[in-house]
Amino acid sequence: MKSQDVRKQFLDFFASQGHLIVPSAPIVLKDDPTLMFNNSGMAQFKEYFLGNATPKSNRIADTQKCLRVSGKHNDLEDVGFDTYHHTMFEMLGNWSFGDYFKKEAINWAWQLLTEVYKIPKENLYVSVFEGNAEENVPFDQEAWDIWKELIDEDRIILGNKKDNFWEMGDQGPCGPCSEIHVDLRTAEEKAAVSGKSLVNNDHPQVVEIWNNVFMEFNRKADGSLEKLPAKHVDTGMGFERLCMALQGVTSNYDTDVFTPLIEKVEQITGAKYTTNDVILSASEESQNKTNIAIRVIVDHVRAVAFAIADGQLPSNTGAGYVIRRILRRAIRYGFTFLDIKEPFVNQLVAVLANQMGEFFPEIKLQETFVTNVIREEEASFLRTLDQGLQLLDKVIADTKKALPSEGLGRISGAKAFELYDTFGFPKDLTALILKEKGMSFNEAEFDASMQAQKARSRAASEVSTEDWSVLIPGNVETFVGYDQTENEAKITRIRKV
Ligand code: ATP
Ligand code: MG
Ligand code: MG
Ligand code: MG
Repeated sequence: MKSQDVRKQFLDFFASQGHLIVPSAPIVLKDDPTLMFNNSGMAQFKEYFLGNATPKSNRIADTQKCLRVSGKHNDLEDVGFDTYHHTMFEMLGNWSFGDYFKKEAINWAWQLLTEVYKIPKENLYVSVFEGNAEENVPFDQEAWDIWKELIDEDRIILGNKKDNFWEMGDQGPCGPCSEIHVDLRTAEEKAAVSGKSLVNNDHPQVVEIWNNVFMEFNRKADGSLEKLPAKHVDTGMGFERLCMALQGVTSNYDTDVFTPLIEKVEQITGAKYTTNDVILSASEESQNKTNIAIRVIVDHVRAVAFAIADGQLPSNTGAGYVIRRILRRAIRYGFTFLDIKEPFVNQLVAVLANQMGEFFPEIKLQETFVTNVIREEEASFLRTLDQGLQLLDKVIADTKKALPSEGLGRISGAKAFELYDTFGFPKDLTALILKEKGMSFNEAEFDASMQAQKARSRAASEVSTEDWSVLIPGNVETFVGYDQTENEAKITRIRKV
């Protein structure tokens, strides 16, 4: 089943159960101070659950563009290294605002997966909240009883508060959840561990696909729970993971969501992706790195392209800086492991627009603009990347010379900061390059250099603001470096064209 049809069937199914289908909210949130990017389907409906606004319908379904690269949900470090966490992904969801509850939600989820999508029942596991006496939250007997009618009891797993209880914050609506996991192991792999029930994290091919949250309690300021007068359902299913399960593959990157992008990268770079999620043997280390690099690139271009299409340009502060860092991570992987020294990520935008443009017209309509922004960013970063890498190589060599007996070492934080400040190397990029060599840098020294820099720029800004961006206090990294004026002026120009 093609991914287009997977998405359509989800929405059609819930439309036929009386749900209003709404568009995805933008990936970038401008009016929510608590959240930088949309990281789940429910974010745009928060006010409904809090009772501050009334939904157009008490049954809604959609697919939401999500980005998990900051805050509570940050999957960036896993991307490329596993085959089912992305920075940008689509979350399919259905909601009940004070309307249906567990019985309908569970039965529909089961019907959709097993009858519409025809996933074999014996490949599915579910989890139910086990209860937590300390926090006074009960075992979810109701969900257990509903699941028991649908699935063998030995495939219902009890989950703890961390995985199976959802809370908005210290106070407010909360409730247990039931996750659905799909088992994509081969018969031999299953036989090898027979009798053992698995959920994700135990095996890379047993993957969580759908989370069903049942909001039935309100946590009061004193920590106690009361029943909500109106109960809600909030579900989220990973679209790319669902496509993996339905397309007979064991990696999201082997679905048609990613293969056109991968083919384009192969065409541009001459590298070959080996469709594989197992770690190859050490002798195949360079192929491993090629695979990781390709996964990183095809993942990151989606995050960056959709963010730009939704109005978030790469920049030196806040959400814009996060987007810039993601793009630079992709460029760096291409540069180091695919040996590509020219702008190339921008060429993937056309493939993406072609593939996703029908359902997400924003990417098709702004294809040229998005391509141009990415190309400018790439050109600017590549110019300094080369110089920066040379400097880093020298620092590494000097450090090793100074510590010959240890072999491994930590470079000075001041040098890491120089790379950041002068060459635009984000902290995590330097850490990544060093990690590959079994090295690290002194974080405390880096932070001290950063503080000193901020103090200097505050002083400087009293005199002249020309060369410095406004420093935003707080924990968002603020980069005030070489490419600020040059690049942003260009971007403004492109936008006007
Ligand atoms: P995981 O445990 O795999 O990290 P999660 O429990 O953090 O997932 P939820 O917050 O429950 O995920 O989100 C609902 C669904 O969204 C998940 O069941 C999964 O299918 C999908 N999902 C979550 N994070 C990602 C991601 N980084 N990339 C792709 N899909 C994801
Ligand atoms: Mg997660
Ligand atoms: Mg999980
Ligand atoms: Mg989950």
